[in-house]
Amino acid sequence: MRLTQKKIEEILIKILGEDGMPIVKELAGKENVSEFDLATKTKKDIKVVRKMLYLLYNNNLVGFTRKKDKQKGWYIYYWTLIAENIKFSYFKSQRELLEKLRDRLENEEKELFFICSSNCVRLNFDESIGFDFHCPECGELISQDSGESRIIHMRKRIEEIEKELKVHEKEKKKVLKKQAKVRKKVVKAKTKLTKIKKTPKGGKKSKKVTKKNTQKIKVSPTKKKKVLKNKKG
Ligand SMILES: [Zn+2]
Repeated sequence: MRLTQKKIEEILIKILGEDGMPIVKELAGKENVSEFDLATKTKKDIKVVRKMLYLLYNNNLVGFTRKKDKQKGWYIYYWTLIAENIKFSYFKSQRELLEKLRDRLENEEKELFFICSSNCVRLNFDESIGFDFHCPECGELISQDSGESRIIHMRKRIEEIEKELKVHEKEKKKVLKKQAKVRKKVVKAKTKLTKIKKTPKGGKKSKKVTKKNTQKIKVSPTKKKKVLKNKKG
């Protein structure tokens, strides 16, 4: 699954703050964006832009290449968001949010809450006793709040995030399975190749040159050449 622009922004803004939004918008979906271009387009001071880029860099969310400006003699840095790491960061924060929501829901379901009719405060049972069931702000009597709409909202959010994470885990497993398959194929191909390379015509002498043996046996220069030739072949 590719993260939507909105989700990418969500993650990066958590690190940069709202001020970073224009920079994020300029970086998203592009590669090798010059920091000077970023400064011009976002109308920000180059120092501010760099500070934000380093913040992202410290979080492994952006990478750079640099090129020397031949005329001016200094390096110009070009920046690219690292999609994979942003995705990782996003799902990590979703898992944390899920934990928090579950805790809050549990709390909401097991505790009693009281609210002021003027909406000044919302207190749990112990706090309400402490204030003798009167609002500490306006002095009005407080009454029990069922918290039903909160509970419904939280349950809905929890369900959404659980679903999202489930899909993500499924996809991750699929990718890992695919990668393992490719790796197996590569290993198989390599072994096949090594076998072909290391058993040439006559074969007996070079048969000794297995991976293990190359480190131990001192090969004379002439033999070395032969081995190299075989390797190339
Ligand atoms: Zn009140």
